[in-house]
Amino acid sequence: MEESSKSSSSQGSTMEQPQPPHEAMFLVLAYLPVYEVLVMSQVCISLRDAVRNDILPWLNAVVEWPLSSRLNDEILMKITSKANGGLRTLALMNCMHVTDEGLQRVVEQNPLISKLHVPACTGITPEGILRAVKTLCQRSNCLNTLSINGIYNIQKEHLDMLTLNLKNNLPLEEQQKQQPIYYHERGSISVFKREENQHLVDLETCPKCFEVRMVYDCPRGHCKRGEWPLAPCRGCKFCIPRCENCGRCIGSEELEEGACEDILCLECWLQLPKCSFCNKPYCKQHTNWWSTSSDSSLICKVCDENSHGYTYTDVL
Ligand SMILES: [Zn+2]
Ligand SMILES: [Zn+2]
Ligand SMILES: [Zn+2]
Ligand SMILES: [Zn+2]
Ligand SMILES: [Zn+2]
Repeated sequence: MEESSKSSSSQGSTMEQPQPPHEAMFLVLAYLPVYEVLVMSQVCISLRDAVRNDILPWLNAVVEWPLSSRLNDEILMKITSKANGGLRTLALMNCMHVTDEGLQRVVEQNPLISKLHVPACTGITPEGILRAVKTLCQRSNCLNTLSINGIYNIQKEHLDMLTLNLKNNLPLEEQQKQQPIYYHERGSISVFKREENQHLVDLETCPKCFEVRMVYDCPRGHCKRGEWPLAPCRGCKFCIPRCENCGRCIGSEELEEGACEDILCLECWLQLPKCSFCNKPYCKQHTNWWSTSSDSSLICKVCDENSHGYTYTDVL
């Protein structure tokens, strides 16, 4: 009698008290973007405490959509102060409300930043970047990657100054080991890739048009297009059209358009599922744009919107 009541009460207590999350969950926190860290803090008390009290989830601050559009200098300060001055990565993707002052304050309090990514942060100026980079390079030798694509009005002089500051930070052999930049991998940021040799600065002077832009390499190795028989097909996206999915250069004869209006090479185009109305595929960035029609065939956003207002009997 006693035993059975004991066992039922212990069973009851295990059901009422859920187990704490697996230890691995706490390690994962350090690799998540800020938004997901905040979401995780609402899962349970132990994760909430880890997010609140541990420094580890905050050392690599990656702010992407949906937080990016709401991030301003004040919120940035709150987020980065959780690293206690030990911030390693500051990646603000498309955060247009962050200003030069906001960036400068974070940089002054976090001298150990090694990766600074502020692509399309249009509230930051080239002068603001230069000041932040100078501050970091003077105070420590940590900064080794800078992404500034999409900041307005970056001129060759800015780029030269930035590269000069950064190069003082790196031994020559490391500068020479830089990896190629592929079009289809642009904008991807991973805190896992910390130790790899990435480009010092993502922008370059395009060898074809001499504008300061992202310059892409061709993933096809020793690819040489007819127009430039002696030069490899390195260039900005305006000089050399590239496939959204595989990053290779595309000649006009094999250029295909996706339903998202991104361009694809013929080879990738042939392999992708197509819209059952317009016969266009989506590139890999936009696969979540598919809708399905009532007979479960794929239908692109444009055709789906165009079909609204009609019933299937109307169409027939
Ligand atoms: Zn160019
Ligand atoms: Zn392709
Ligand atoms: Zn090529
Ligand atoms: Zn369509
Ligand atoms: Zn696309």
